[in-house]
Amino acid sequence: MTAILQVKDLKVHFQTDDGLVKAVDGVSFEIEAGKTLGIVGESGSGKSVTSLAIMGLHKGSRAAVSGEILIDGVDVNQATEAEVNKLRGKSMAMIFQDSLAALHPFFKVGDQIAEAYQVHNKVSKKAAQQVAVEMLGRVGIPNPTQRMEDFPHQFSGGMRQRVMIAMSLSCNPKLLIADEPTTALDVTVQAQILDLLRDLQREFGSSILMITHDLGVVAEIADDVLLMYAGKAIERGTVRELLKTPEHPYAWGLLTSIPKLTGATDSELLAIPGTPPSLITLPSGCSFSPRCSYKNRSKVDCESAMPELAGVKSNSSHLVSCHLSETDRVAIFKSEIAPKL
Ligand code: SF4
Repeated sequence: MTAILQVKDLKVHFQTDDGLVKAVDGVSFEIEAGKTLGIVGESGSGKSVTSLAIMGLHKGSRAAVSGEILIDGVDVNQATEAEVNKLRGKSMAMIFQDSLAALHPFFKVGDQIAEAYQVHNKVSKKAAQQVAVEMLGRVGIPNPTQRMEDFPHQFSGGMRQRVMIAMSLSCNPKLLIADEPTTALDVTVQAQILDLLRDLQREFGSSILMITHDLGVVAEIADDVLLMYAGKAIERGTVRELLKTPEHPYAWGLLTSIPKLTGATDSELLAIPGTPPSLITLPSGCSFSPRCSYKNRSKVDCESAMPELAGVKSNSSHLVSCHLSETDRVAIFKSEIAPKL
């Protein structure tokens, strides 16, 4: 399989008055053609900063970005602003969480889609507007010719997100980056948007990088999952591996904290103790150690050594960053975690 995107040892650090913020600290992954990778993590885990770095949006900012981001044979990190501009639209496009902020409030949506198309394709305004009408129809907006004349505020949240998807896919990009595209929507609209993305992915053959904090979204749409915590990748595997046989104590905490519809109605909700660490003063050793209930079972001192991201078994593509032995992880999962899922 061909990798559409390869990210190698990506680091995004920000120098602030309070100290160096290591928002992303040595993350590597790739996405194959036509596949969807979900990057999951809570606020501050580095998932959105990773997506912005891939789009080259840190260029010209105070961020120090290192590592390789290879798309279409171009390293976004080494490329000039003009070279990255060429990649945006045709090679990669992004859907943002807040469609109202992402669309220009003073321009008709039809003109915005047509203009985005014209930036990357040498066609007349009329031809670009025809593409915009077709794309609005394709993403399920009724009466697309009339709706071309409307402004963003005249659409509902779900319809606006469809407009964003139409604009992103108008140039048929190889990679679509979707940063929490359904977070602001209610669950029925969320399901419609995820269905739409899946259909369009089949039709256009794009790869998708889905950034989300929601394991439900990942279960719906992703082939593979990368779990991030405090700027690092701590587990990577197929969606089935992550959801059915998770290996990292943080993944166990996330899965067991999902409220159940069955069981006693007064049963206590399970939560991961503590809060994510400051990215300026990260704990020594494993970043999750202050919140980990299993660190005492590790034979390595979790508070002094950071575990490597390594195969769960030798030659396994399911990777985890944890000092617990495989035998201990399996035993803990079977006796303490699986019964709560
Ligand atoms: Fe917990 Fe130690 Fe594993 Fe970190 S390395 S997740 S502290 S057991």
